[in-house]
Amino acid sequence: MADLTRTIREKAESYFDYMVQTRRHLHKNPEVSFKEFDTTEYILHELKKIGIKTETPLETGCVGIIEGKPSGRTIALRADIDALPMDEEGDVKKEFLSERPGAAHCCGHDAHTANLLGTARILSDLREHLDGKVVLVFQPAEEKLPGGGRVMTESGVLQKHGVKEIFGLHTNPNYKPGQIAVKPGPFMACTMEFGVEVIGKGGHAAAPHTAVDPIVLAAQVINQFQTIISRSIDPTEPAVITVGKIEAGSAFNVIPGKAVMQGTVRAFSMETARFIRDRMEAVVKSITEGNGGSYSFYFSEGYPAVVNNEESTQKLQKTARLVLGEENVIEMERPLMAGEDFSFYQQEFPGAFFFLGSGSEETDSQWSWHHPRYNVDERAFLTGSALMAGLALG
Ligand SMILES: [Zn+2]
Ligand SMILES: [Zn+2]
Repeated sequence: MADLTRTIREKAESYFDYMVQTRRHLHKNPEVSFKEFDTTEYILHELKKIGIKTETPLETGCVGIIEGKPSGRTIALRADIDALPMDEEGDVKKEFLSERPGAAHCCGHDAHTANLLGTARILSDLREHLDGKVVLVFQPAEEKLPGGGRVMTESGVLQKHGVKEIFGLHTNPNYKPGQIAVKPGPFMACTMEFGVEVIGKGGHAAAPHTAVDPIVLAAQVINQFQTIISRSIDPTEPAVITVGKIEAGSAFNVIPGKAVMQGTVRAFSMETARFIRDRMEAVVKSITEGNGGSYSFYFSEGYPAVVNNEESTQKLQKTARLVLGEENVIEMERPLMAGEDFSFYQQEFPGAFFFLGSGSEETDSQWSWHHPRYNVDERAFLTGSALMAGLALG
């Protein structure tokens, strides 16, 4: 691949305008999770135009197959294509603001899609240098449970093509265009939601002995939750329990009948998350029932943790140093507690997920993900498409 480095970079430059136009078209025409019908049509059309075979294993989203010299090697490159159910704002984006009320690309998935379509063009041009097959995955619904990453994996399309390794990226406003950031091992957390109803017995505030006070019990539950992390989890393993919402009572002199709370658990393995779940329910049960009350408890599993395969990460870093230059490859010290459904692919195939620097002052693109002004410095396409192509050719 090393001798192709220059060609890949030149190709990325020659398709820069194409990627910008594509991203702006998608940005103007956002579609929310599992409803990406026009987006899918558009991608299929773009792939077919350059002679790439396509498949549609799901109602929305698609895959493109590029075949090189026959070998056992098949690599998958993934982009997510959905927008968020929100409205956006921002002067810098005024030429291509969403034309569909209630939908906006404020997580950069328009950029991911345009970047992968640019990658498709580079790879299609360099097909004779390609060993094996590349599966381009345009996945729906990263933003909505059960996650497009999950349904795409379960569709079996990647397995059918014998995928051996997968790579994906996310734009990141904290890094500059030209840069990428990655680390091996835990990269993004698994995300869980829970709710607890502490059911007591209401009564007069002056006669607590005739009531079962759910507020006192809820306070004990919350404190005990925090000792699960500090006393039952290996201190070298990151984990969080946050009660983000609590509701109880209607007046200063009334003991209410129940207290309700909701929150989130973050960890870096399902095993840890499920251990925390079991401990939480045991705590709720013992405190409520031990004091004459009762409870209800739910715990819903979101996305598993994104954990980067050691070898895939090394390959990514090596390719990135060649294509982008040593100084542009950042090794992160810590993972993020946010989640991503790229993790579903990683449960089946080794792979690595990385951040594509996309933040700059001049393009007002340093806002956080999901902010109405979220924007991407489009120069990131030069980096993203070249690196993705390099990985496929490497
Ligand atoms: Zn998002
Ligand atoms: Zn996203």
